[in-house]
Amino acid sequence: MDLQRLAVELQERRNADLYRSRLIVEGAQQPELQIDGRRMLSFCSNDYLGLANHPEVIEALQSGADRYGVGSGAAHLISGHSQAHHALEEELAEFTGRSRALLFSTGYMANLGVISGLLERGDTLYEDKLNHASLVDAGLLCRATLKRYRHIDMQSLQQQLAGVTRGQRLIATDGVFSMDGDLAPLPELVELASKHHAWLMVDDAHGLGVLGTQGHGSLDHFGLEPDAVPILMGTLGKAFGTFGAFVAGGEELIETLIQQARGYIYTTATPAALAEATRTSLRIAREETWRRERLQDLISRFRQAAEQLGLPLMDTTTPIQPILAGSVQRAMAWSRHLKTYGLLVTAIRPPTVPEGSARLRITFSALHTDQHLERLLDALAKLTGAPT
Ligand SMILES: *Cc1c(COP(=O)(O)O)cnc(C)c1O
Repeated sequence: MDLQRLAVELQERRNADLYRSRLIVEGAQQPELQIDGRRMLSFCSNDYLGLANHPEVIEALQSGADRYGVGSGAAHLISGHSQAHHALEEELAEFTGRSRALLFSTGYMANLGVISGLLERGDTLYEDKLNHASLVDAGLLCRATLKRYRHIDMQSLQQQLAGVTRGQRLIATDGVFSMDGDLAPLPELVELASKHHAWLMVDDAHGLGVLGTQGHGSLDHFGLEPDAVPILMGTLGKAFGTFGAFVAGGEELIETLIQQARGYIYTTATPAALAEATRTSLRIAREETWRRERLQDLISRFRQAAEQLGLPLMDTTTPIQPILAGSVQRAMAWSRHLKTYGLLVTAIRPPTVPEGSARLRITFSALHTDQHLERLLDALAKLTGAPT
């Protein structure tokens, strides 16, 4: 291993403004964060409903720990699958309108687990070019052939589907694209999948909890029945404010994953207390519709004002509201500018987004106040004059 080479590469990254580093947050996840002793107003969390620091969720975690302790001690198939995990799976199945749900430790692992658990050599996987990195990695790691179609371009997908005839086919897409905030054209995808005898898998990490009156996600947004999408993946660390992920679907799908998904089998179960916390946050997320209404209100007011400022918004009404900068340098300058106003909005750079499409990724939480929104808009209004 040539350590000198690593140092050179790190320096090259710095020079290109592509160096990534971490902030150290001193308290709970909420709009107002304490970082380096300074109060920052954050617009870059995926805690859309404001549940990550909810007193009832904290209390559920604490009483879960009293009952189950901390560590789960083993994988689900050995002795780590608790009553709390099982109850949460049943509640997630009910929530998503499916017969079964299966918990995974993270969304990253769920995507790896599903795709490599279901596809073999000779099968074909179709993915939107802007799918989340975990879906892309799953495609690269599994033995099937990976084909990537142009972003939400159904013609591009159709052409690729027309090309292959052997083996199983799976189309996998984000429901809400994580860096652009736009929606996959699910009704068209459902139709194409059925026409070409392909499975359809939707990763609804940013749709569940947020879209649909009760937070049922992207499918509900389009009025699609659960049957239309046989494989639904959801994460628990975003709108639900806790941690982990799940896959929901029919009996055979879930039993197959239990037998074959290595990302499920060969890893320790998440703490049972965490499952208790998620059961509580799931209930709050469903019941408290005001959180989704609040989000929609913030989003539409933000878009209206940002349009008036002439900011390069993207076509989305989800809580993910990117402002396209183009160059990395510009995105970084904008982020630094906002920082001087005490606002935390991270610049998203390649390879997370394609070359030339660096951006600020603004996200909203139901806990942002009117005053928070005004502070953001005031600082954005001064962006045009900011150094680039
Ligand atoms: C965040 C995210 C994941 C990964 O989920 P984790 O639980 O954070 O590992 C997967 N897919 C999408 C679309 C995501 O945004």
